[in-house]
Amino acid sequence: MQERVFNFNPGPAVLPYEVVQEISENTVNFQRSGIGILETSHRSKEFLDILSQIEADFRELLSIGKDYSILFMTGGATTQFSAIPLNLLPKDKIANFILTGVWAEGAFEEAKKFGRVHAAASSKDKNYSYIPKKLEISPDCAYLHYTSNNTIVGSQFKTEPEAKGNILICDASSDIMHKKIDVNKYGLIYAGAQKNLGAAGVTIVIIRNDLLTTIPENLPLLMDYRTFAKNNSNFNTPPVYAIYVVSLVLKWLKQNGGLESAEKRNIEKAKIIYEAIDSNPFYLAHVEKEDRSLMNITFNLADKNLETQFFKEAEERKLIGLKGHRLVGGVRASVYNSFPLEGARELAAFMKEFAAKKG
Ligand code: PMP
Repeated sequence: MQERVFNFNPGPAVLPYEVVQEISENTVNFQRSGIGILETSHRSKEFLDILSQIEADFRELLSIGKDYSILFMTGGATTQFSAIPLNLLPKDKIANFILTGVWAEGAFEEAKKFGRVHAAASSKDKNYSYIPKKLEISPDCAYLHYTSNNTIVGSQFKTEPEAKGNILICDASSDIMHKKIDVNKYGLIYAGAQKNLGAAGVTIVIIRNDLLTTIPENLPLLMDYRTFAKNNSNFNTPPVYAIYVVSLVLKWLKQNGGLESAEKRNIEKAKIIYEAIDSNPFYLAHVEKEDRSLMNITFNLADKNLETQFFKEAEERKLIGLKGHRLVGGVRASVYNSFPLEGARELAAFMKEFAAKKG
């Protein structure tokens, strides 16, 4: 097999090598059943076992109580931008948003189609380079929505915003399970799987059960959270393969010390790269120090003309997927849970050498 490279892509993103190997074996012959996982029925005992195991693992890793349901949906996190207001925004209430980047703005814009919205805070004034701390939550608040990690700009909430007793909703697409959080503070958490949890195709929704009781009737079937909650996320054909991949990633997380160890590894990796940025004026971090992401590390080269050369030489060193989003430009190193420590060290070493050569 061709040697693997260090994959800094923002998602779909790197998976643990053990997981990739297990997927490849089971794609041909799933648990010695004689057929591959892609060919396995969603009603088979094998798949039903995966579904119960994955739910149990979620509950264990994040200490999720019985008062929450875990749903496996499709349509990516973007579908949740519509599903949330459809299910949880009554006419007489206002959805509040913290606007910290493109994805938060996307959720805000989409909610406008379904009801009233209010921006409780925004960091747009400084190109989203910080997390706003002061919130102005409107009266009649239906819920407060925030994006825990801003994949494009590279900022991250270090703790939950203060929802002042309102329902807190979080788009955790790019940092779910990067550390342990207190799920009890939330009404709903959602995340596409393709960054920290596995493969594209499945979206995880963790919802407090009482919120399932106020959903209006006559929503489109696959937009209605109850369809998934009542049918064990197996009402229509779920994304079997994507769910299977997530199940392996959760198993890997458990085998590697759970979320406490994942957090330690993430802090260590990010520290190595941020130190390489901060120790040299050749590089400029995009986000204010206290709000920097452990998952997506963004920076520019002081001399933008050197960027193309930077990416070219990085690739020659097997460091791929570093190009930043067009909105921020520069470099983005995505170092999700599965990204190996050696990759962070390799990038830091490369940055130092490149700066010494060109600086
Ligand atoms: N929210 C965040 C924070 C994201 O990073 C992304 C994807 N990059 C999305 C939402 C949209 O997710 P999807 O492509 O799964 O719809």
